[in-house]
Amino acid sequence: MTDKTSADQLDKQSRDLEMFPTLTAAQISRIAVHGQTRHVEQGEVLVEAGEETARLFVVTAGQIEIVHPSELKEETVAVFRPGMFTGEVTMLSGRRGFAQIRATQSGEVIEVDRGQLLSLVQTDSELGDILMRAFILRRVELIAREFGDVVLVGSVHCAGTLRVKEFLTRNGHPYSYIDLDRDDSVQELLDHFHVSAADVPILICRGKVVLRDPSNEEIADCLGFNDAIDQTHVRDAVIVGAGPSGLAAAVYGASEGLDVLVLESNAPGGQAGSSSKIENYLGFPLGISGQELASRAYTQAQKFGAQLMIAKGAKQLACERKPYAIALDDGVRVPARTIIIATGAEYRKLSLENPSRFEGAGVYYGATLMEAQLCGGEDVIVVGGGNAAGQAAVFLAQTAKRVHMLVRSEGLASSMSRYLIRRIEDSPRIDLRSKTEIVALEGSNHLERVSWRDNVSGKIENYDIRHVFVMAGAIPNTHWLDGCIALDANGFIKTGPDLSSEDLAAAHWPLARAPHLLETSLPGVFAVGDVREDSLKRVASAVGEGSIAVAYVHQVLHE
Ligand SMILES: Cc1cc2nc3c(=O)[nH]c(=O)nc-3n(C[C@H](O)[C@H](O)[C@H](O)COP(=O)(O)OP(=O)(O)OC[C@H]3O[C@@H](n4cnc5c(N)ncnc54)[C@H](O)[C@@H]3O)c2cc1C
Repeated sequence: MTDKTSADQLDKQSRDLEMFPTLTAAQISRIAVHGQTRHVEQGEVLVEAGEETARLFVVTAGQIEIVHPSELKEETVAVFRPGMFTGEVTMLSGRRGFAQIRATQSGEVIEVDRGQLLSLVQTDSELGDILMRAFILRRVELIAREFGDVVLVGSVHCAGTLRVKEFLTRNGHPYSYIDLDRDDSVQELLDHFHVSAADVPILICRGKVVLRDPSNEEIADCLGFNDAIDQTHVRDAVIVGAGPSGLAAAVYGASEGLDVLVLESNAPGGQAGSSSKIENYLGFPLGISGQELASRAYTQAQKFGAQLMIAKGAKQLACERKPYAIALDDGVRVPARTIIIATGAEYRKLSLENPSRFEGAGVYYGATLMEAQLCGGEDVIVVGGGNAAGQAAVFLAQTAKRVHMLVRSEGLASSMSRYLIRRIEDSPRIDLRSKTEIVALEGSNHLERVSWRDNVSGKIENYDIRHVFVMAGAIPNTHWLDGCIALDANGFIKTGPDLSSEDLAAAHWPLARAPHLLETSLPGVFAVGDVREDSLKRVASAVGEGSIAVAYVHQVLHE
């Protein structure tokens, strides 16, 4: 056996021990206080696959198994002997589990419900660490082994497929994928569920419900991502947006005892979730993918008891009286004592007739591993001269044949980090073209051909390039605020010292005190991260602002 093989085996062993630890007698007795000890009979089903109530079981005698139901055959996912415990991250979110839990030997278990489990992980740091680590590793394993309750049938030529994949991935939801163009057995599956290739993307949810080209909201509903909202319950803080700033506010708010609800119109992570590697966030010298950072933050917010609603966008702010209320797309109204707006900004699109026609099928607004896999070995175009464009170019240059970086201005933006500029200049695979812009996109189902114009010579060139990454700045997500809050000329939210006396007079600011740092022209409503005027457009500053806002929320709640 080589050194490398034995080191790999040791790694796997220690990972398995962390994923499936055996608790000591002292640890088990601390859990017992939070649950009910009961006898189980051989063959007894403790939890059905897809059941809504999340419960954790610690085996004290006998044996239980997790079984993944499938159309063809059942598969045992894990076996738990005395001292071991069931559960994974759905235990924190309260979402439906994917598998059946049943006793394979008669014995005894401690049954802990979700509320008790949350209080245990928040108060017992030793057990909290053991449980959280096991839950996260188990979820990673489920994703890697595609052990989920969802089958996605799609095609690489279909933009909807990429959207659904992104939504499931960014929600950390395991799924199996069947490609229409590559998998011969797909017809059998389509016939079984009475659907046709023209319906892709098709989502088969829990082996029962078939969704044809579903919206993100339909997927979230089908997979039970969200609890019902109690419209009479006035929250201490409603956070709108689950990008880095909103997730930071949720973690700090919930961990400091506030009753927090987060509304996210798409999936957790925001813009950062589409970043392939964030290298300048403190504490991650090797970098971290936006997806991983977001999923850790999401789990952390749930651990402290924040409630997160996925694919539930804020449509309107009712600001005439207190408590304020936020109306959602589906008509639900959420009342709130304070609000933290963390809705970030959206990518600027190419000013062409048909860019959305190729979205996900050749035109992308994020450069993660998923997109990079689609265009390995090919020529790609990156549009933009800021940090996000620079990062995408450097990342894609690792796998693409050539990266053409098109910038409308003289050169790279003055705001681009020096380290990126150096890497772009040093990369033989990146071609920087200033004063150049795309003038046409062509193709049928997928982008096939791009024309760009050199704005100095006026010359138009055409290339068979199938992938364009648009990283050309952003527009703030503030349309839903509808006159309630003072905005700057570009639609970004003004806060704290940036609010002039004219802004405050126009907004009828009612208090003797000036607005707090990060407070908008509406008392008790804060804005953090990229949605704020003159924000730094960095993950660290967004996270910092989210946590600072919580300190002021406490002050407002005591006013
Ligand atoms: C590709 C890319 C790479 C980047 N790399 C880096 C990097 O390496 N380092 C760095 O420091 N910064 C990086 N950035 C910038 C960084 O990601 C942003 O500054 C940061 O994500 C801003 O966080 P935010 O929470 O303010 O907003 P966002 O990340 O934009 O999140 C806002 C969230 O609000 C949601 N939302 C919008 N409207 C509504 C609504 N009406 N109701 C409910 N929810 C809503 C959105 O869906 C989104 O999830 C990168 C950005 C991109 C695009």
